[in-house]
Amino acid sequence: MPEIRNVIIIGSGPAGLTSAIYTARANLAPLLIEGEPSSTSDQPGGQLMLTTEVENFPGWPDGIMGPELMMKFREQALRFGTEIVTRKVSKVDLSARPFKVWIGDTDAPEPTHLAHSVIVSTGARSLMLGLEEETRLLGHGLSTCATCDGFFFRDHDIAVVGGGDSAIEEALFLTKFAKTVTLVHRRDELRASKIMQDRLFANEKIRFAWNSTVSAIQGGQTVEGVTLTDTITGEERPLAVTGVFVAIGHRPNTDLFAGQLTTDENGYLVTHNGSLTNIEGVFACGDVQDHVYRQAITAAGSGCMAAIDCERWLEANHH
Ligand code: NAP
Repeated sequence: MPEIRNVIIIGSGPAGLTSAIYTARANLAPLLIEGEPSSTSDQPGGQLMLTTEVENFPGWPDGIMGPELMMKFREQALRFGTEIVTRKVSKVDLSARPFKVWIGDTDAPEPTHLAHSVIVSTGARSLMLGLEEETRLLGHGLSTCATCDGFFFRDHDIAVVGGGDSAIEEALFLTKFAKTVTLVHRRDELRASKIMQDRLFANEKIRFAWNSTVSAIQGGQTVEGVTLTDTITGEERPLAVTGVFVAIGHRPNTDLFAGQLTTDENGYLVTHNGSLTNIEGVFACGDVQDHVYRQAITAAGSGCMAAIDCERWLEANHH
C-alpha cells in the first residue's frame, strides 16, 4: 500500500495552489494532483490558463497574463515543498479513512495514493457554444467573465449569449463600458428572474436578438463579428460586434465525488463553517463550491481557508 499522506489536494487553480502554499508552509508536505493539459478549463492552472490579461489580481498593478500568474502560484507552492503530480484523479473513495485516490486504472484494487485529509479544488468550467473558433478567440474578444474582462470593451458593440440570470447580470454590467450590448437568446422569453428582466428592459444600451444562436464567430486575431442563426426559420444574419460574452451557465467539476460529497441543486459542493464538507477531513474551496463570486482572488482566499481548516482538523485528530 502507498504511504499515507497528510493531505492530498485535487486541482491546481488559484484555490488548490493557495491551499498547497499554506499546507506546505505548515509542514504538511502536501501532494497536489494538478490535472493534465487540455484545451478546456479542466487543466493544470484552471480557468486562468485560458485568460489573457488579468488586471484585478491585487499585487499586480500593471496586470499579469493569466498563465503567468498561475506559473507564479505554482512556483510558490513548489518552493515550500509541495509535491505536484501532473495527472488526473480517476476515482476517489472517501467512505473510510485513510481516504483513497486513484490515478489511471479505476479497477486497480490498490489506490495510487492514501491520505488523512483531502482538499477538493477541482473548479468549474464555463459552458461554451461548441464552435471551433472558440478555443482560438477565448481571451481575444471572446470571454466568459464580464467582471474580469468588461473593462477591455470600452465603447465596443458586444453580444452576450444566454437568457438566464448570469447572462442578464453580465449584460447589465457590460453596459457600463460598451456602446451597445445585444442579448442573443435562443428563445423569445428569458429564463432570468423578473426583477433582472425589468432592469434589462429598462436599459437603453441593451438590444435583443430573440430566437437566435451564435453559429459562427469571425476574426483572426480578435473578434470581428458573429453570424446569428434564427432558431425558427434557420435564416442567417450578421451581427457587427467586437466582443462576445458567453453566459450559458457553468458546470462544477464534481463528477469524481458523485454520491460521496453533498452538492446543491446545480451540482456545486456544499460547504459549511468555512470549507468543511459533509465528510470529516474533506475540505472544498474555489469555484467547485462557489457559484457566486467566481474570481481568482476569492478562490485563492477560500484555498487559504481550506488549508487552515485542514491543518486544524489534522492537529485535532492527532495526525
Ligand atoms: P441558467 O439559468 O441555466 O441559464 C442558462 C441560459 O443559457 C438559459 O437561458 C439557456 O437557454 C441558455 N443556454 C444554455 N445552453 C445554451 C446553448 N448551447 N446555446 C445558447 N443558449 C444556451 O444558468 P445561469 O444564468 O448561469 O444561472 C445558474 C443559476 O444561478 C440559476 O439558478 C440562476 O438563477 C442563478 N444566478 C442568480 C443570479 C442572481 O440572482 N443575481 C445571478 C447569476 C446566476 P434556455 O432558457 O432556452 O434554456
